[in-house]
Amino acid sequence: MTPVILFGGRPAQRDLWRAHLLDAAAAQGLTMDLRMAPEDVAPGDVDAIIYNPEGPVQDFTPYAKLRGALNMWAGVEQVVGNKTLKAPLTRMVEPGLTLGMTDWVVAHVMRRHVGIDRHLTMAPGDWPQDHPPLARDRRITVLGLGALGEASARALSGLGFQVTGWSRRKKDIPGVRCLAGPAGLRDALAAGDFLVLLLPLTEATENLLNARTLRDLPEGAEIFNPGRGALIDDDALMAALAGGHVAHATLDVFRQEPLPREHPFWDAPGVTVTPHIASVTRADTAAGALVAQIVRIRDGLPLLHVVDRARGY
Ligand code: NAP
Repeated sequence: MTPVILFGGRPAQRDLWRAHLLDAAAAQGLTMDLRMAPEDVAPGDVDAIIYNPEGPVQDFTPYAKLRGALNMWAGVEQVVGNKTLKAPLTRMVEPGLTLGMTDWVVAHVMRRHVGIDRHLTMAPGDWPQDHPPLARDRRITVLGLGALGEASARALSGLGFQVTGWSRRKKDIPGVRCLAGPAGLRDALAAGDFLVLLLPLTEATENLLNARTLRDLPEGAEIFNPGRGALIDDDALMAALAGGHVAHATLDVFRQEPLPREHPFWDAPGVTVTPHIASVTRADTAAGALVAQIVRIRDGLPLLHVVDRARGY
């Protein structure tokens, strides 16, 4: 059979993605009928939708024989509760997204680890002689050991940091001390001189970092959040920064984006804001991952990276 695929990305994405999807299909020997807009296809004919939460398809009801909604993003919180979607929903796992996130995490961790800011802002005549600790003397905890968290944990471990990771189910990752579940959270936080958040936003993870859990971090801890803004209680973080228990927070994601000008994070001395650029799904690297899913649909195989709708990720 020739699967009928609807590209549900934003109109501005169509030309770029079409080219990469067709290249990837040729490379994987897939013949597919690729339609780039909902008006180009009868909904009842569509086997799979390449789905973007900001794209034109939000009501899946007319797509009666749909066998997969392939989310273009790793985060699924905007679609996971969509009751019109009955087909399996997959989240994006692709090498470019993973590499980009690892770069962001390593870059911002190294900035704070080495203390680069202090030297870039040194006044003439200033000559500070406080050497940073070695990576092997710094403890880093990564909350979330999925596609992005595991890659980041491995990269940090490869640089010599003492890395602890935390997930729902226990993992086994060389060079990473793996903890799991609610019972492991306290130990994970206590080992987080630097704490990296790479959890999905779900009912169980919203406000995971709050006034109580922030106290479990070591005095002077630093936070790096490229996960989702609502993982952190903003007011509790501001209070922890003001009291000095948290020394610095590097935040890429926020409850409201773009971060409103009046939000205190912009001017807080211990906060670095980056504009949700930690990573992104890239057409050139993601097309192959999407085509591999479509091949599975053609062959009647179960999809990869299927979201557990009840758990929310
Ligand atoms: P993923 O593969 O689904 O991994 C999620 C990880 O979180 C898993 O290790 C999972 O545990 C763990 N987890 C989930 N709920 C938990 C809970 N209640 N307690 C403990 N651990 C829990 O997701 P991913 O692909 O790595 O992406 C992670 C998040 O990064 C995305 O959801 C998105 O929000 C964010 N993101 C941000 C950007 C950006 O540019 N800032 C870009 C892409 C993604 P198990 O392994 O046991 O299931």
